[in-house]
Amino acid sequence: MDTKAHPTLRDCVKPDVASSLPCSKVGKVQRDLTSNYFVVDPVFVATASMQPYQRTYQDPIHRPLRIYTLDPAASRLDGAVATLKVPFERLSSGPGGSILEVVDWDETTGQLSKPVNLDDPRILIESGRTPSPSDPMFRQQMVYAVCSSTYDVFRRALGRDPCWGFHAKPGQAHPKLKIRPQAFYDRNAYYDSSAGELKFGYFDADDNVQGRNRPQGRVFTCLSHDIIVHEMTHALLDGLRTRFRLPTHPDVAAFHEGFADLVAMLMHFSYSDVVHAAIERSGTKLETDALLLSLAAQFGHTTGSDGALRSAINPAGLGQHKEGGIRRYDEAGDEPHERGSLLVTAIFEAFATVLRRKTKRYLLLARLASGEAPGPELTEILADQASTLATQFLSICIRAIDYCPPFDLRFGEYLRAVITADFDLVQDDPFGYREAIIDAFARRRIYADDVPDLAEDSLLWQPPDIKMEPIEALHFKMLRRSGDPGRAADEAELRRQAEALGLYVMRPGYAQAFGCALPGDVQLKGDRVDPAVVGSIRSLRRVGPDRQVIFDSVAEITQRRWCKQSSGRFIEVFGGSTVVLGPDGRVRYVIRKSVTDPRRIRAQADYLDGKGNSKGWMKRGRLRHLPRSSKCQLFGQKVDDIQHAATRRII
Ligand SMILES: [Zn+2]
Repeated sequence: MDTKAHPTLRDCVKPDVASSLPCSKVGKVQRDLTSNYFVVDPVFVATASMQPYQRTYQDPIHRPLRIYTLDPAASRLDGAVATLKVPFERLSSGPGGSILEVVDWDETTGQLSKPVNLDDPRILIESGRTPSPSDPMFRQQMVYAVCSSTYDVFRRALGRDPCWGFHAKPGQAHPKLKIRPQAFYDRNAYYDSSAGELKFGYFDADDNVQGRNRPQGRVFTCLSHDIIVHEMTHALLDGLRTRFRLPTHPDVAAFHEGFADLVAMLMHFSYSDVVHAAIERSGTKLETDALLLSLAAQFGHTTGSDGALRSAINPAGLGQHKEGGIRRYDEAGDEPHERGSLLVTAIFEAFATVLRRKTKRYLLLARLASGEAPGPELTEILADQASTLATQFLSICIRAIDYCPPFDLRFGEYLRAVITADFDLVQDDPFGYREAIIDAFARRRIYADDVPDLAEDSLLWQPPDIKMEPIEALHFKMLRRSGDPGRAADEAELRRQAEALGLYVMRPGYAQAFGCALPGDVQLKGDRVDPAVVGSIRSLRRVGPDRQVIFDSVAEITQRRWCKQSSGRFIEVFGGSTVVLGPDGRVRYVIRKSVTDPRRIRAQADYLDGKGNSKGWMKRGRLRHLPRSSKCQLFGQKVDDIQHAATRRII
C-alpha cells in the first residue's frame, strides 16, 4: 500500500495520534470491533488543559500599553497611537506570560535583543514604552499587547479560554505561543504551526514608496497592527480547528486567510480615535472609509503597491472585479488570500447594512444637509454604534467556528454555522443581522449544499436524523470543571468526556449518523477505515437574551478512510462530524461529513490526487507543496522556496 505518497496529509492528522495507537488497531480491518473503535487525540488532551493566568483580587484588571493602531506610517490625527487595556497577568521580562512569550531573536543576524521588563516602574507609569519604530523594546511591547488583546477577543466571544494547536516545548508544563518580533530579514510574516511561533520579518522599503514612508527605510511587519492580528488569528483558529490544515478544498486555506483579515479589520473599530477620524474623513458613510477598511497600509505602500495590502472596499481590491462589480464565488480563483477576500467583503457588506439600519434614526433626527459633516455629539453616537456592532460581528464570526465541520470547511457551511450560532444566542433578530449576512453571501453566489432555499430556517444546522438518547455521562451535572465553567477541565476529566463521546458515537447503528463507519461497513465498499479520533470536546457558553447562562459542549470526531483507486493505490480521505451537545447531554446538532458518502469521498479523493480543477497545493515529484503565495505555513510544512517563483504575497 502506498502510504508514503502523502506525507503532508499524514502529518496534518496529528502524527502523535497515529503513533500512539496500539498496533492491533492501526490499519487492520477488525470485524469483531463494535463500540470501541476510536482513540482520543492526545495532543488535544495535552493542549486543552492549558491554564491562562487567573487574576487574583489584588491584581489590577488591565495593564495599559501603548501601540500603533494601524502602523507607524499612519497620522496621529487618524488615531495612529492608542493605549490598549491589555488583560492583566504577571509577566517576566520578554514579556513572558502564561500563554504568550516574546523572544526577540533574529535568525538572519543571530542577534538576541534585550527583553523589555514591562513591570519596570518607569515603564508602568508611562503606560508602556513610547511608540517608536526603532526601539526593539517597543516592538516587543506592541506584539505582546496586540496578541494578548486578540486572544481576549476570542476568549470573550467563545466564553472559554482558547487553546493552541501545538505541543508544549521541552521544559514547559503547558504550550506557549512564541512571538518573534524581529525574526528574519524578508517581506513576510507567518504563523509556524510546527514550531508554535509567530514570526515577523523586517525589510528595507522600495525606492518608490508612498505616504509617510522613506525610500529604503526599514519597515518592521511587527509594527503593523493588522499583520499581528492576522497572524495571531491563524494561531487561534489552528487551536480551534487543527484539521483546517488539511488541504481538501480551496475554501479551506481561503477561509483561514479571509477570517484572519476579517478579525484584523473589525478590530480597527475598537479604537475610538481611529473611528472618530474615519467619521471626520468619510462623514456618515463609514463603510466607504478606505483606511478603516484596509489592511496593512504601510506594507502596501513600501513594497511597490499603490494601496494597502488588501482592502474590503477598494473597487480594484481583491474582493471585487476591477470593473467595480462584485466578484462571485465561482470566479474567485484558488489563491487563498484572493478567495478569502470574498468572505471579508460579504461580512463587511452585511455589517454596513446593519449599521445603516441602526444609525438611521439618529441621522433622521440630526437632519444633516447633503455633504454636511456630523457634529461632535452625532460623531460620538455613530462611533459608539459602529464599535458596538463591530464587536457583535466579531463575536458572531468567532462563535461560528464552534459550529463548523471539523475539516473540509466550505464557505456555504460557514454561512450555516454563522446563522446557527447567532440563532442559538439571539432568536429574535429585529435589525436583521442574519438576513443581511444571508443576502451578502447570496450576492456573491456563496450557497450551502443540501439546503432547499436560503430561508433562515433552512440554513440552521439540524439535529441528528435518527432518534438518540442523551449521553448521560456528558450531562452538565456529571462534568467536573476547574473553577470557572468556561475553563478547561484537567486532563483526566477531558479524557473521560472524550471517551464517553467516542463510546456513544462508535456504536453500530450510530456511527453513520456521525459521519463515521465501523470496519466492514458495506458502504465502505471494501475500503479500510482507521479508528475514529475524538479530536476535542469543549464547553460552549451561551448567554441568552434573558441573561440566562447555558453551557453546551462541542466536540470533533474524525475518521480516515483508505480509498482504493482504480490504479491499485490507496488515497486517504476523511469523514466525521462536529457534535453540539445540550447541557442535558442531548445531541443538538451533528455537522457531518460522512466517510461513506460516495459523492464527497470521490470529490475529496480527486482533489487530493490532483484530478480536480482546483489545487491548494502544487505537486513536485511525489511530494506536495503549497504555492509560494501561501507562505503562512498553515499546513505544517515549509514552503519550497525554489519551487514557485510567482508573486509573493505575505500574511
Ligand atoms: Zn495569512
